[in-house]
Amino acid sequence: MSIVYIVSAPSGSGKSTLVNELFKMVSDLDFSISYTTRPARGSEKNGKEYFFVSNAEFESMIAADEFLEHACVFGNYYGTARRFLRETEERHHDLLLDIDVQGAAQVKKRLPEAVSIFILPPDRDKLEWRLRNRGLDPEEVIRRRLDTARREIENYSKYDYILVNNLLEQSADELKAIVLAERIERGRKTPAVAGTRIEETRIEDTRIKETGSEARRVEERRLLSIAEACRLERARDRVQPILASFGAAPVRN
Ligand code: ADP
Ligand code: 5GP
Repeated sequence: MSIVYIVSAPSGSGKSTLVNELFKMVSDLDFSISYTTRPARGSEKNGKEYFFVSNAEFESMIAADEFLEHACVFGNYYGTARRFLRETEERHHDLLLDIDVQGAAQVKKRLPEAVSIFILPPDRDKLEWRLRNRGLDPEEVIRRRLDTARREIENYSKYDYILVNNLLEQSADELKAIVLAERIERGRKTPAVAGTRIEETRIEDTRIKETGSEARRVEERRLLSIAEACRLERARDRVQPILASFGAAPVRN
């Protein structure tokens, strides 16, 4: 069974940056390319970042029940095609969905085993700075994104893991740890990690073999403990000041 990872974040938190870093480090993971009715931006290519379709095409896909989930975000349709999950399962890979909070709730309902990760900026000022510094959006869009961020952040407690994207390198390591810890916990053969190949190797020399498996155990323990610290229950205290910086309601449950 493939593991489905859901990643959501308020726009500008650094989700695309972190997901790109993740794909450099973890193998056997596919990115689900969504369908959308919004026009392509900048250098985006059809079939790479998204499949860009018309309203009529999107609505006929809804009618044919082709979506695992779909939602209206910033006035446009976005949806995850069921075929992506089927194809990932055939390849024995895992699948990462970059979707909004509405889509995440739909997927969790249909696939309760899916692993959901919410990425937060360190605070409102840093989010505003990142949105401006990215230089993609006009002022009114930045205002709207900041306003939407407050409402999205209030949904953090519906996610399994919380990742506060402060220092990029550390956050990328945390995202990798969450993905690999779930594989380890689900009894997978430990996958290959670029830079630290910790999968089983065919080394005949017993001494090296033991050193290799000890190194693997140490790395697995490190990944599990980083992931554990990102679990919702461990992260609640870290989230309260972030919520406060957005003027969002404190969430208790
Ligand atoms: P999102 O996909 O969540 O909308 P991006 O990945 O486009 O966000 O990141 C928004 C901006 O913030 C980009 O300019 C990116 O380079 C920058 N950024 C991402 N992560 C960090 C970080 N940890 N520290 C500082 N800047 C960051
Ligand atoms: P953008 O237009 O900036 O690429 O994405 C806007 C928002 O739509 C982001 O929050 C992104 O995660 C979300 N999104 C992208 N694809 C999908 C999808 O297939 N389903 C849902 N529900 N949201 C999506």
